[in-house]
Amino acid sequence: MQTSLTHTQLLIDGRWTDSASGRRIDVVNPATGAVVGTVAYAGEHDLSQLVEAATRGFRVWRHTTAFERAVVMRKASAILRERADVIARLMTLEQGKPLAEARTEVINAADTIEWFADEGRRTYGRVVAPRNLSVQQSVLKEPVGPVAAFTPWNFPINQAVRKISAALATGCSIIVKAPEETPASPSELLRAFMDAGVPAGVIGLVYGEPAEISSYLIRHPAIRKVTFTGSTPVGKQLAALAGQHMKRVTMELGGHAPVIVCEDADIANAIRSTAAAKFRNAGQVCIAPTRFLVHSSIQGEFTRAFVEHAMGISVGDGLTAGTQMGPLANGRRLSAMTQVTKDALARGAKLELGGSRIGAEGNFYAPTVLSNVPLDAEVFNNEPFGPVAAIRGFDTLDEAIAESNRLPYGLASFAYTRSILNAHRLSNELEVGMLWINQPALAVPEMPFGGVKDSGYGSEGGPEAMEAYLVSKSVSIMSL
Ligand code: NAD
Repeated sequence: MQTSLTHTQLLIDGRWTDSASGRRIDVVNPATGAVVGTVAYAGEHDLSQLVEAATRGFRVWRHTTAFERAVVMRKASAILRERADVIARLMTLEQGKPLAEARTEVINAADTIEWFADEGRRTYGRVVAPRNLSVQQSVLKEPVGPVAAFTPWNFPINQAVRKISAALATGCSIIVKAPEETPASPSELLRAFMDAGVPAGVIGLVYGEPAEISSYLIRHPAIRKVTFTGSTPVGKQLAALAGQHMKRVTMELGGHAPVIVCEDADIANAIRSTAAAKFRNAGQVCIAPTRFLVHSSIQGEFTRAFVEHAMGISVGDGLTAGTQMGPLANGRRLSAMTQVTKDALARGAKLELGGSRIGAEGNFYAPTVLSNVPLDAEVFNNEPFGPVAAIRGFDTLDEAIAESNRLPYGLASFAYTRSILNAHRLSNELEVGMLWINQPALAVPEMPFGGVKDSGYGSEGGPEAMEAYLVSKSVSIMSL
């Protein structure tokens, strides 16, 4: 296995290999700006080999029993657990998150694989009562076919593991285009599957120019399903292309999670869970709390406590013991944070904490808290995807719900209240895919994970995640 960030290869037909052209690109440690490795950069020849292998792999894997598939998947999960420390280090080196967060990500991935392995054994069709007693009607659930998956850099392993696990559990083969900026840790995920005995061609791994790869794979007739996690603008482009080629699609896109803190909330609990969630992975989380809507009567108290929590966060290199927040994963996020903070202040928001880059080396940005943020501020309209918390007050729950639903996004949401009436109203009226009340986000594999509106469609958790990789076939047999 890869124990230091040197060179990450493609996985084609069960072989770790460089691209046919030999081209490679650099991988940079976001904490130092130093080049710490390289990654192979695929061209069309490699892609065509990948698709051919995935086509053969699909034939093999769909005819492997669900029981045997689960055995291999459970083995992959065990391998991942054994290698968690080494893989976590690779992830921190290329992505920046603190080592403890990286390790948790690997362990959670192992948990996800196990859940899908078991769920695959419970994928049943059904028998339907016929209108003629000499007919037997049944519904068969079959794997959709080779899948093309596109995964981002914020959770290099967890964004890929949900897709790979659902594909493998249902009998599909899958080609993953993992993130070029954080290639080594997802490649170790695929290595765990290969070492566990997944046959050649069933999983493939590719890096290169994202637009070229998606354009090639989505158009290719052998690919039957497309799954993407990333930004809404890119998701819309890929969904449109998939539509032209009649491909099944799951889209896991951006969000802008409202956090509604009602006047009867347990403020200490709200602070503990939202502040930790806001700054986890330096805020580069699609379900991170982003629009803090706090009842006017407790806004001052909430803001002071939130600032106090944020002041205590130790920012540094993720490999250094005690670091609670690492650098942003790339320079684009650093510029975006500078821009959204500047914009909010220019529009009248108050800077409670942070608001600037830390140091000149690496992509460090201070945990930032803005209060009295006007609705027209950029940070209240576009997902910040970074360590900037924007707070504003509200007077009635109607107002908070209207603001929550104002944006085209509908991914995660959070609320803090002791009132069952408020909890019911929020569950019924928020236009979101996920809602956590009085608790932090817990993205467990057994629960659906996905959004509505511009946040995408389809789910990556629960039985719904399996359905996304299955097609139904109606079979009626008349006995003569
Ligand atoms: P981006 O929009 O350029 O890319 C987002 C992801 O999509 C990256 O992984 C990228 O490699 C991939 N991508 C881009 N163009 C593609 C194409 N044509 N075909 C296939 N894949 C393509 O932005 P970025 O700077 O990498 O990230 C910024 C924004 O992306 C964030 O503000 C956030 O909204 C969103 N994002 C969301 C998630 C998530 O978990 N939903 C993860 C990462 C990024």
